[in-house]
Amino acid sequence: MVVCTDITEARDLCHAVRADGKRVAVVPTMGALHDAHLMLVDRARRQSDFVVVTIFVNPTQFGPAEDYSRYPRNLEQDLAKLRPHHVDMVFAPSAADMYPVGHATTVRVAGLSDHLCGLYRPGHFDGVATVVAKLFNIINPTMAVFGRKDFQQLKVIRRMARDLDMPIDILGVPTIRDPDGLAKSSRNAYLSAADRGRALSIPRGLTAAHYAFMRGERRVDELLGAVEAFVQVAADSVDYVTAANPDTLESLPRHASSGEHLLIAVAMRVGGTRLIDNTVIGEDSPPLARERSR
Ligand code: AMP
Repeated sequence: MVVCTDITEARDLCHAVRADGKRVAVVPTMGALHDAHLMLVDRARRQSDFVVVTIFVNPTQFGPAEDYSRYPRNLEQDLAKLRPHHVDMVFAPSAADMYPVGHATTVRVAGLSDHLCGLYRPGHFDGVATVVAKLFNIINPTMAVFGRKDFQQLKVIRRMARDLDMPIDILGVPTIRDPDGLAKSSRNAYLSAADRGRALSIPRGLTAAHYAFMRGERRVDELLGAVEAFVQVAADSVDYVTAANPDTLESLPRHASSGEHLLIAVAMRVGGTRLIDNTVIGEDSPPLARERSR
């Protein structure tokens, strides 16, 4: 496993591998790696010849009041987790190298970036699209692997690749959950045991919406109500509980009826921690397969 912090060195190695006719997969991460990241790596391994994991806490996707400075960073631990997964290269650049003085270019995917989290984290998806475009240019991958846990991010990156003629397959991996249903996240490390108990309202609420849908409920108001019944009592604050078109991410009015595919996305705060989760009814299994709505 080559560990590389230098942009030119990373580019030269990846371009040489591509010139050899090999398929290069990249898994972009911010480190603090957990099992879900490793599942993405395993998927990349199965479908490519050369796996690159990038580790970079990207400053431009954090708002001024967000957790950029306290975001967990531990490169040595991350490398130890990656070694058994047969990663070929880890690329961990510095912020100063990625954003040298005078860096002035932003990639913005209009529309998809403006819904859901875009309403609460202005500029976030511009930061994501910009850094991923830069990583794609450095690594020159044939494919890139992202998690559906960050469903909006996946959609934004797919659209960016399409619009900017980047010949890269963007693979989406289903959300990986702990046995209690909570979606794995580096930010779960911030949660106390009591906070974690409250966070479980998210998979419970999403599951309740699935079961309501299975019983034939199609009214958006009722489906959202099923989620809200769980999360509103548990959260310190709720940014949104939204039903949206999974293709456009446009939210459906509460008086609308759902079609056969419906994205339900949640963002809320427990303690000081902002948690997001989502499910696509009609595509995903309920987060808690055996849980029944109350
Ligand atoms: P992050 O390090 O949080 O930027 O995440 C890196 C990648 O891992 C992104 O594509 C995330 O969507 C993905 N990821 C993080 N948590 C999960 C999860 N619980 N299930 C699936 N993918 C995930």
